[in-house]
Amino acid sequence: PAEADIEALQHVDVAELLPYPAPESDKYRRGVVGVVAGSARYPGAAVLAVAGALRGGAGAVRYVGPAADAVLARFPETLVHAGPPDRAGRVQAWVIGPGLGDEADALEDVLASDVPVLVDADGLRFLTPERVRARGAATLLTPHAGEAAALLGRGREEVEAARLASVRELARRYAATVLLKGSTTLVAAASGPVRVNPTGTGWLATAGSGDVLSGVTGSLLAAGLPARDAGSVGAYLHGLAARRAAGPDGAPITATEVAGHLPAAWRDVT
Ligand code: AMP
Ligand code: MG
Repeated sequence: PAEADIEALQHVDVAELLPYPAPESDKYRRGVVGVVAGSARYPGAAVLAVAGALRGGAGAVRYVGPAADAVLARFPETLVHAGPPDRAGRVQAWVIGPGLGDEADALEDVLASDVPVLVDADGLRFLTPERVRARGAATLLTPHAGEAAALLGRGREEVEAARLASVRELARRYAATVLLKGSTTLVAAASGPVRVNPTGTGWLATAGSGDVLSGVTGSLLAAGLPARDAGSVGAYLHGLAARRAAGPDGAPITATEVAGHLPAAWRDVT
């Protein structure tokens, strides 16, 4: 494929895609994002994914999983649900995976839904191309190079050496949209140009930043953006938020601070 098969969004493109509330909006029309994340071992991943989701433009966030106490302590606005995802109530898009551990049952529940699903981190371990291809709604996979390598059955170095070909191959194989994280984040659908994110910064290479990305991107899916746009706008805002958090000269940042700077990133593009 030629160079022309690559494109990058700019502020103006992102501003057009952002889900502004209409005058007659209510929280359900803005979208409800369901977050299935966290475990006894990794409760913080749930908190970070919810933090991102609350600032992605959806009207409400439903959390499903064992870290509800930790989530509510940080974000009392979260709707929590103790049972399986398919009983959680209305959701317009699911995010599943950050810090999840071995919850394969929850994954099957959300894949069986007829709404868009973002699968990250531990959720990616249980996917098969057949299961994803059988879905009736959009699926967005957000692996880093190591997770992409596992999905492709190759070594991480092979993916790093061929990131563009790898993201395209994954998108074709799973008939899904794939956001390959890393120093340059790429977003590919099964066909069409690959989007390269121009806003990344090495300060994002910090624990938990991927969990924030999954939340904000899932929220954009719930607000109605197509998967390719949700992925590329999510990565764009996430990178800008990290730059805002790090400041003009750069300084170490935490994933919590990235999430906290998402509103500043949103204002930057508009
Ligand atoms: P994860 O690997 O799931 O923790 O996600 C890490 C996040 O940080 C992703 O959004 C990556 O794209 C981003 N990231 C990691 N390393 C870099 C880097 N060197 N430059 C820019 N972004 C990075
Ligand atoms: Mg991760």
